[in-house]
Amino acid sequence: MKEVLLCKYGELILKGANRSYFENLLIKELRTRVKRAGDFDVTYAQSTIYIEPKNEDCDLELALEYAKKVFGIVSIDRAVVVEKDIDAIKAAAKEYLPQFLVGARTFKADARRSDKSFPLKSPELMREVGGAVLEACPRLKVDVNNPEVTVRVEIRERGAYIHAGGIKGAGGMPLGSSGKGLLLLSGGIDSPVAGYMIAKRGVTLEALHFESFPYTSERAKEKVMELARLLCEYTTHIKLHVISLTHIQEELRRACDEDYFTLLLRRYMMTLAERVARRNHCHALITGESLAQVASQTMKAIEATDNAVNMPVYRPCIGLDKEEIVSIARKIGTFETSILPYEDCCTVFTPRHPKTRPELENVLAEEAKLDFAALCDEAYDTLNTYNIRIED
Ligand code: ATP
Ligand code: MG
Repeated sequence: MKEVLLCKYGELILKGANRSYFENLLIKELRTRVKRAGDFDVTYAQSTIYIEPKNEDCDLELALEYAKKVFGIVSIDRAVVVEKDIDAIKAAAKEYLPQFLVGARTFKADARRSDKSFPLKSPELMREVGGAVLEACPRLKVDVNNPEVTVRVEIRERGAYIHAGGIKGAGGMPLGSSGKGLLLLSGGIDSPVAGYMIAKRGVTLEALHFESFPYTSERAKEKVMELARLLCEYTTHIKLHVISLTHIQEELRRACDEDYFTLLLRRYMMTLAERVARRNHCHALITGESLAQVASQTMKAIEATDNAVNMPVYRPCIGLDKEEIVSIARKIGTFETSILPYEDCCTVFTPRHPKTRPELENVLAEEAKLDFAALCDEAYDTLNTYNIRIED
């Protein structure tokens, strides 16, 4: 029996003139992701993307895992394909479906006939397939209203597809359909989650990490590279920029009131981030800030931070509790790496009493003690860029 994956992408994308644009983005993304599981044909027809193994070496289970991480796919059916012949369909239903019905008590059969030349209409087809399943699993009962499992036969142009219902896809919008954003990626828990959430809405990511060598180590940077690589499971590719803040931090410590230290640093970060974003055609900055989580994330502090940028800042975690962020981090697989105990530049020279309600004018007065523009120019010159890709 030949098994394939049918990827469905939902109503939203089907609408309007963008449809083939979206479909092409999805196909491109799926091809890159599943090729790590073998040689597959990835094609589309009738609002469905077909992933079909070309040979015996293909790992369909693995391809399914990869396809589940492609944004824009709403559900995936793992199906067996047979010729459009009722006897072949019944035989395949008997042989293939029982594995998905283990432990279930009730089921129903459903049928869709997009190839109208098929002689049986949907209700008859349902009955035939339901009957075949009952022969194979006599203990099952049919429940049309509230079945535990719905088995389905789809008569399509290319053949008859039999499966036991949809596996949830990643949802969201196809990557690249919403433009590009710059993620401020620290080594913590929140920023990878923020990147994931915005990428899910169709935004291609670039990332920017600030290091503070030698106060932060080479291993801290490698951890951030690993986080970027983990995000590539969802985005395929991330350009990671790294800028050193060492000199800025030393200057802040030398010249400014310690209580304003973190806030001032954040204003430098945002200014540098905006510059990286503009030069790389990113239309927004993305951070992992969550309201009131720490002193630099109070409303007043965010106001003072935002005042340093002239570009939208997306903060998808702003209304989430730490626990909620952690549960997303676990789901997307970044949590274990995020909690590795390496230092971050924000934790170097942390003030003992950071201002939680800073007045902007006081912040600006502190900032004026240094040559902001010159320090930014100098920090920008330390920029290094790495291309991080999903492993082939
Ligand atoms: P995270 O868990 O993402 O590190 P956090 O709770 O530790 O967040 P902060 O350290 O205050 O919070 O940072 C807030 C946001 O600023 C981060 O989510 C990230 O987007 C950005 N940021 C902080 N440190 C860095 C860094 N070293 N490089 C790049 N961005 C950073
Ligand atoms: Mg942090």
